[in-house]
Amino acid sequence: MATGTLYLVSTPIGNLEDITHRALRVLSEVALIACEDTRHTRGLLNHFGIKTKTISYHEHNEHARAAELTELLVGGASVAIVSDAGTPGISDPGYRLIRACVEQRIVIVPVPGPSAFVAALAASGLPTDEFYFGGFLPARSTARRARLAQLRGLAATLIFYEAPHRIAGALADARDTLGEREAVVARELTKLHEEFARGRLSDLALKFSDAQAARGEMVLIIDRTTLSNEEAGDQSASVSLSARVAAIEAEGLDHRAALKRAARELGLSRDAAYRRLVAERAQQQSIAPESSGVTSNEEIDMNDQQQDRTFNEDQQQMFENANDAPSTTRQPTPGTQTVPPVASDTSVAGETPAAGDSAGKTATQVD
Ligand code: SAM
Repeated sequence: MATGTLYLVSTPIGNLEDITHRALRVLSEVALIACEDTRHTRGLLNHFGIKTKTISYHEHNEHARAAELTELLVGGASVAIVSDAGTPGISDPGYRLIRACVEQRIVIVPVPGPSAFVAALAASGLPTDEFYFGGFLPARSTARRARLAQLRGLAATLIFYEAPHRIAGALADARDTLGEREAVVARELTKLHEEFARGRLSDLALKFSDAQAARGEMVLIIDRTTLSNEEAGDQSASVSLSARVAAIEAEGLDHRAALKRAARELGLSRDAAYRRLVAERAQQQSIAPESSGVTSNEEIDMNDQQQDRTFNEDQQQMFENANDAPSTTRQPTPGTQTVPPVASDTSVAGETPAAGDSAGKTATQVD
């Protein structure tokens, strides 16, 4: 008996109109659809009136499920694999099943469609001739910096997936590790609030230290070239202290601990950190330093033994790495350009825009 075929079916990353005719046909014709989340995919299938049976296939059952599905395929059934969004196997489950099928000589057929990093890169305005896709960067700063340091000399545009609560930290770490570079944060692609925030790493770190700005799904794209001091506009430019404090707060530390850690990362004394934070806040808000809402000098007790015990090796390493960083900050002048609204967007369940919401997509230039 002939073996079945494994179809890798790409699905929309937001806008349901991005499903292909071929994907719909294959999803209708196969015996079974292996889904990262059956309830999520059921929403998609219902939208298109597809009644094919589904089965879960995710990182926690990948091993056992790959064996079961391979058996079905060997028995002659055709199976499609889909993830929640985009292309299965790309920072998503799929690899183990695909490997098993390769070993069993089962035919594997890709049904191409959306993938967030390709869409982000294509529209980023950064060079597309050579690029490196790194999936998700490590969550912890020390590991993230180590990964970025490995990529410092690569003559390729760098692309990463990133979570909203980590984007400011990732941008700050990239600035410190790779030097000042042009970058793009492509957010909410194909959805109502699609945005391309373009600017320098330190400017974007500042922008996304605001939790309101750092929302939704995002792809981080970094240029291959480190700007010269002249191009960067300030010989001693570095990541803003307030942006770094906000990013650390977003990881769960309170303001006092966040400020202390950021100061240590940047190799600043208590007084220097306080002065810099006050100056940054005053500059951002264009108001007098006294009313900038910065934690008082007394509150940043760098000799606080209790706090010191909370510094683990990770944080200590960050502090050591950060000692290389220059110590003053260039402030950005943000500007937002709104492009005309797109024709009616059809979004996946849970992402449907509010009725009457006619907001246009935004392209934010941070420079
Ligand atoms: N397999 C998917 C693909 O081909 O793009 C990627 C899955 S990965 C688990 C999810 C990550 O992709 C998100 O955290 C985000 O970084 C990125 N992503 C997915 N959809 C996106 C969107 N609409 N806009 C921006 N980034 C998106």
